[in-house]
Amino acid sequence: MMRVAGGLVAASQYALPPFVLHRPTTVEEASRHVAAGAVALAGGTDLVAQIREGLAIREVADLSQVRGLAGVSLAGGTLRIGAGTTHAEGAADPALRAALPGLAEAWGRIATARVRFTGTIGGNLMAGRPRYEGRLLFGTLGALLRFADGTTLPAERLAGEASRHRLLTDILIAGPERLLFRYERALRPMMTLALCLRREADGRLSGRAGIATERLAPAFLPLPELRAPAAEAEAAAAAAFAALPRDFADPMSGNAWLRAAGHATLARALKAIAA
Ligand SMILES: Cc1cc2nc3c(=O)[nH]c(=O)nc-3n(C[C@H](O)[C@H](O)[C@H](O)COP(=O)(O)OP(=O)(O)OC[C@H]3O[C@@H](n4cnc5c(N)ncnc54)[C@H](O)[C@@H]3O)c2cc1C
Repeated sequence: MMRVAGGLVAASQYALPPFVLHRPTTVEEASRHVAAGAVALAGGTDLVAQIREGLAIREVADLSQVRGLAGVSLAGGTLRIGAGTTHAEGAADPALRAALPGLAEAWGRIATARVRFTGTIGGNLMAGRPRYEGRLLFGTLGALLRFADGTTLPAERLAGEASRHRLLTDILIAGPERLLFRYERALRPMMTLALCLRREADGRLSGRAGIATERLAPAFLPLPELRAPAAEAEAAAAAAFAALPRDFADPMSGNAWLRAAGHATLARALKAIAA
């Protein structure tokens, strides 16, 4: 007898118990199935792993035929990214590249080539795994997640379990033309860091940094107001990392290392963004 959830035998498609497959074509229909307990299936790149890890599924809502869930658009000063947009589509999208080139560049670097063409940003966020980068990128940008039931949630506050029965429809970023964004992932999986600065009307820059590790969900650190990010980079990085909680400590590195590496990476990112 196979004990799939116990991990004694690697699960495969042959070990899958039967489940009901729904093929909705509208957001409303898909949302009803998800609210009633069906598991959303987008690209499947993470869901397959969840099933191997023991997730029991009785009903699946395949999102591949749902109209209007994918794509990027800019309207009324807000950038909208559909949850069903794949990493490859998003990173290459002309509207995104024009409005927020730093995000397009960062998005183009996550995952492998195969996964980039199949995996969606909605799946990345809703999988709820700390090591996935979507929450760090969109949380640092101050993006809002919009669900089919009409609710919204700041990306930084997304928690996997609490959002299980909601269909994510899109990600909204207000005023992208005023945002400067940079992502540092050279130290991944030890540490990744995102930086977002917003240009205020009087020329001041406000913003925040986000830091995450392979195991730790992101911490978001406000930056002091800046006028000349290159000159103020070291002081601003020190002020930001003074606020990093002491219990933000990855077993692979520890809090002191994350503070030191985070400070150096943030100061470098501030200088680069100013240039
Ligand atoms: C080899 C490999 C390398 C990877 N490398 C990276 C990396 O470097 N960086 C990184 O960030 N990620 C990485 N990933 C993760 C990858 O980004 C995700 O697997 C992918 O984005 C998930 O998208 P999907 O469409 O396949 O989601 P699925 O597998 O279909 O779904 C994932 C989860 O999200 C839920 N879900 C999907 N869409 C919605 C929706 N619209 N509303 C509500 N719930 C939804 C599903 O029910 C499921 O729980 C990697 C994955 C693999 C397999």
